[in-house]
Amino acid sequence: MNLELTDEQEAVSRLARDFVRREVTPHAAAWDRAEEVDRGIVKKLGEVGFLGLTIDEEYGGSGGDHLAYCLVTEELGRGDSSVRGIVSVSLGLVAKTVAAWGSEEQKRTWLPGLTSGEYVGCFGLTEPGTGSDAGSLATRAVREGDEYVIDGSKMFITNGTWADVVLLFARSTDAPGHKGVSAFLVPTDTPGLTRRAVHGKLGLRGQATAELVLDGVRVPASSMLGEEGKGFSVAMSALAKGRMSVAAGCVGIAQAALDAAVAYAGEREQFGKPIAGHQLVQELISDIAVDVDAARLLTWRVADLIDRGKPFAVESSKAKLFASEAAVRAANNALQVFGGYGYIDEYPAGKLLRDARVMTLYEGTSQIQKLVIGRALTGVSAF
Ligand code: FAD
Repeated sequence: MNLELTDEQEAVSRLARDFVRREVTPHAAAWDRAEEVDRGIVKKLGEVGFLGLTIDEEYGGSGGDHLAYCLVTEELGRGDSSVRGIVSVSLGLVAKTVAAWGSEEQKRTWLPGLTSGEYVGCFGLTEPGTGSDAGSLATRAVREGDEYVIDGSKMFITNGTWADVVLLFARSTDAPGHKGVSAFLVPTDTPGLTRRAVHGKLGLRGQATAELVLDGVRVPASSMLGEEGKGFSVAMSALAKGRMSVAAGCVGIAQAALDAAVAYAGEREQFGKPIAGHQLVQELISDIAVDVDAARLLTWRVADLIDRGKPFAVESSKAKLFASEAAVRAANNALQVFGGYGYIDEYPAGKLLRDARVMTLYEGTSQIQKLVIGRALTGVSAF
């Protein structure tokens, strides 16, 4: 793998850094306190092309490779994980999955709106009763003529209250386990679909997380994404790339933790000198720096594998596992550098830690990533 970025990759990374400095960082603390990101950010993300990365221009995308996508995701995560999550879900889990699995009609219906920021997408897999064991989901889609009638509920859906379309997973046949699951593209204004905001989150407080309830929701049969019974493969392929996106966001958190810790250690004086001059403070800072680099390299490797058309799912689980745990460690180390000031929200370390914490939980917990990696190494499924 060539670790030198191309001129285009450098340029998109710079563009993202400038965008985040201008449009995200100045508002991140206020959005966190208000528990709501300004929705206007979606249009701005679309205008600058960040909602269309890796998608063909023919469908409104801005092209680019997966490494460029990771660079942008890292910068967004460095500024505000709530904003990063909007992109990781609307583009990463929804638009990219429509691009990979969709019919021509589905691509033309959804991609231009999702890539421009006119539409927001959400990914409806988790249910109140099924999280890690997503293949056992209970939401049902029953065929009636040219339609499916969907009943069930979905929990913890990122972008849920904002979204115009949900990529929804439901059981449409009696085949056992995940083999009976199909994927559907459901407009959120379809009668029978209601949403309830989930409040009181530890982190990602600016993000619109929702519970969705589906009560007799009717969609045309043509809204199925991919073949009947292939829904779990659709979900897993989305999550394999999604885990790389989460990992890139975690690199951003860890980098932000490093930036903040170095700056504060240079300013704060104790025992007659800047705390940067105390060896144990340098230990905290160097531990963060190693976590940043290691997480970034693992994440870039996934992007490189995808861009070269190689298998990447297990490497994506490794990157997500390591980067998410690294982001929590890095943010916690940064908080320690800030001392008592790290514990109040005038300073950035507390928010970084709160935002980092969920990364080890969603898109597969750390335990689930270990089972994916363990299965690949041993050939034995321990799920
Ligand atoms: P459970 O599956 O109940 O797990 C509880 C504990 O048991 C965990 O520690 C887990 O690792 C462990 N465990 C479970 N099974 C095993 C096993 N076989 N071996 C070892 N340990 C095991 N979902 C979506 O579909 N779309 C979204 O947009 C989305 N966004 C989210 C946003 C937020 C802020 C949050 C908190 C969650 C989001 N989720 C979303 C859901 C998320 O993916 C799930 O919370 C996650 O998959 C874990 O499921 P669970 O919470 O039901 O935990």
